[in-house]
Amino acid sequence: MFDLLFPRRCPVCHGIVVPRGGLICPGCISKLSFVKSPTCKTCGKEVLHPRIEYCFDCTKRPKSFRFGLALLNYDERARASMARIKYKNKREYLDFYGRALALKYGERLERSGAQALIPVPVHPSRRRARGFNQAEELAKAVSRSLKEERGLELPVRTDVLCRVKKTAPQKELTASERFKNLIQAFEVSEEAADGLTDVILVDDIYTTGSTAEACTRLLLKAGVKNVYVLTICIGQGQ
Ligand SMILES: [Zn+2]
Ligand SMILES: [Zn+2]
Repeated sequence: MFDLLFPRRCPVCHGIVVPRGGLICPGCISKLSFVKSPTCKTCGKEVLHPRIEYCFDCTKRPKSFRFGLALLNYDERARASMARIKYKNKREYLDFYGRALALKYGERLERSGAQALIPVPVHPSRRRARGFNQAEELAKAVSRSLKEERGLELPVRTDVLCRVKKTAPQKELTASERFKNLIQAFEVSEEAADGLTDVILVDDIYTTGSTAEACTRLLLKAGVKNVYVLTICIGQGQ
C-alpha cells in the first residue's frame, strides 16, 4: 500500500522502480561501476595492476585505519546519485546502497569483529537544514541488512563522534593546514567511546581519505584499537 502511494525511485535512473517492491530497476544495476579487484590494500580503491599494493594516495599519505571497503567507483553516475540523496532528499536510495554493502562485505565486516557502525557526522546546523545525515541513514540501512542477512547485531552509534565545526574549502591553505582544520572539526566523546575497541566508520563518499583519516585518528586517541572504513563510493586512483 505504501509503495502504491509513494512509489520507490531508482538510485540510478531516478524513475519509479519496476517491478514494485524492488530497490533498483533490474536493468539499472549493470549501469553501476562496482569496485573490482585489484584494489589498494589500505583504502579499497581500484588499482591498475595486481602488483600495485597501495594506491598513489595511500603511498603518499599512509592511513591509520585498517582497511576501507567501498561499493562503487565514483563516476558521473554515482556522483549524480549521491547528489540526489543529499540535495533532493532521496534518502530512500540508501536502502539499496546499504543492502548492497551488507551483501558484498557482510562476511568481512563480521570477521573484523567490530562492535559498532559509526557514521561520519555532519555539523548539527547542516543536519537540521537537510533533515538527515546521509552517513547515518546509510549506517542504519547497513545495520538492518546485516541483521536480516546474517543475524549480525551491529548497532549504529551516533554518540561517539560529533562535528563541532563546519569546514569550508580553504584554497589558500596547505594540505597539512587543511588537515589540521579537519581534525579540529570533529570531537570524540571519551565516555561514549569507552569499551569500544573495533569500529566501522561509515560515510557516503571517500576521495582522498582525509575525512576518514581525521576521524580515525580521533577514535584511536580515545582508545579504539582498530578502525575500518565503509563507503558507497570511492574516487578512482592509480
Ligand atoms: Zn532505474
Ligand atoms: Zn589507497
